[in-house]
Amino acid sequence: MSETADVSATPQSSLEGAAHFSVLPVRDSLGVQPGKLFIDGQWVEAGEGRYDQVHPATNETVSTFIEAGKSGVDLAVMAARRAFDSGPWPNMSARERKRILQPIVEAIYAAEDEIAQLQTLDNGMPITFSKGGRVSGRVAADMFDHYAGWIDKITGETFPRYTDTTNLHYMTYREPVGVVAAITPWNGPVMTFAMKVAPALACGNTVVLKPSELAGFAITKLADILAKSDLPPGVFNLVTGGPVTGEALSTHPGVDKVSFTGSPVVGEKIMSTAGHNMKRLTLELGGKSAALVFPDTRDVRTAARNLMGLCSTFLSGQVCSTPTRALVHRSILDEFIHHAAEQVRDVRFGDPFDPATTSAPIISRRQMDRVLSYVESGVQEGARLVCGGDRPGGSLASGNWVNPALFVDVDNSMRIAREEIFGPVLCVIPFEEEADAVAIANDSEYGLSGGIYSTDITRALRVAKAMRTGSVGINGYSVMPNSPAGGVKRSGIGREGGWSTIEGFTELKTVMINLDA
Ligand code: NAD
Repeated sequence: MSETADVSATPQSSLEGAAHFSVLPVRDSLGVQPGKLFIDGQWVEAGEGRYDQVHPATNETVSTFIEAGKSGVDLAVMAARRAFDSGPWPNMSARERKRILQPIVEAIYAAEDEIAQLQTLDNGMPITFSKGGRVSGRVAADMFDHYAGWIDKITGETFPRYTDTTNLHYMTYREPVGVVAAITPWNGPVMTFAMKVAPALACGNTVVLKPSELAGFAITKLADILAKSDLPPGVFNLVTGGPVTGEALSTHPGVDKVSFTGSPVVGEKIMSTAGHNMKRLTLELGGKSAALVFPDTRDVRTAARNLMGLCSTFLSGQVCSTPTRALVHRSILDEFIHHAAEQVRDVRFGDPFDPATTSAPIISRRQMDRVLSYVESGVQEGARLVCGGDRPGGSLASGNWVNPALFVDVDNSMRIAREEIFGPVLCVIPFEEEADAVAIANDSEYGLSGGIYSTDITRALRVAKAMRTGSVGINGYSVMPNSPAGGVKRSGIGREGGWSTIEGFTELKTVMINLDA
């Protein structure tokens, strides 16, 4: 490790001065009301009590939502079941289904600004990202637009006759799976809602969606847009609540498929119970992704700032695909560390509705304590903490803020390199040879995504093929409506995005006709 790298970045001083702020005026200006459930075409007060949603930047209680529990879930699944088994939606013509989904695209575009503010009110995502980033209302509208376009292209195949003994003509149809339980995490509520609901509806399924108990506002708005559309009653339903409601939904015998995005621990629970009635599953889970920075990268500074930036700005490393292990060739290690530490100086904490704020707080006190305990374990295991890993004081002390941590001298066997921290912590691991870098990257129980910084296209493609992950970004990465996303190993099962989602939300039926009968 470098003895000469400038490791003097101390972002804390610029953060302590943030003025006191409250998120409640935004709540009031948006007219946010206590949440309800949306079941069978109606907003209803059902379920089993209420819980508070607390804002992570200030720990103010913003509003309350209904814990749907078993009784609320039952009502919603029964409504979705009726809409699927005897309603018009699954058998509707492609033209009619498109006619219903297309105005939803326009309605989401029109509400883009409000959706962005609600998402920031949910999880403290800085408003600039909530408005303009790859997780904005605009992207949700793009997703509905993309999947509305698939509706008249969801086709099966025909097959050549295989033997001379029977004159069979055979073909496949793609049919909807049935009732889909969609369960989403707190970190990108708008995007994950659209990634699941748009394709599920496009394929003719009916849906019961449960957002995270930590982020219900933006999804309630999206649900209201669907409520005001021409979707038949019961085709889309919203239940709110925490693990109890999630478990009631994911184990409900009336559900045919669970599409889940969240932590590996919960994903594994869902997988273990799905066998009872052979539910179909898509699991989009966590990661411990690696980015490999080679000496032939166009610019070490850009690579260092990108990687530290992904851990320190936007959602402060609380993104599944963030490369939290930077594997850096030893010849450029000093330069990389210098620029990564420099990047942290640009971090600005504060009111998430202020366009100058760059970074989000940690979603809950519990998760903040978890992040701080990982920092402690990294130090104890012998990694060197270049900066951060502590909390800013002053007016920020009441929120869940953690100063971005840059660890160097990290060994891939350390806990900070093996476990998903879900916070602002970047681990820098040096390497000498390409093959070593690939081996370190693949030495993980996760396999969500990977990054490569190199101008040698042959090397970049060779390494991309060798990485055991669901996706790889060469000099950049983003989720697109038409690109499959998902992971291998403990990062999940199945893909969501483009045609892969259509496959995931449909069943193939083979029909044979004897042409000699
Ligand atoms: P989480 O697993 O705690 O919660 C996700 C959802 O599951 C929430 O709606 C929650 O209420 C629900 N839930 C909790 N217990 C349940 C149970 N027993 N049965 C059914 N549902 C239950 O995850 P989180 O903290 O909201 O999100 C962070 C995690 O999500 C991280 O691990 C992150 O990597 C992952 N994530 C993955 C992707 C991806 O595309 N692969 C995207 C975003 C987040």
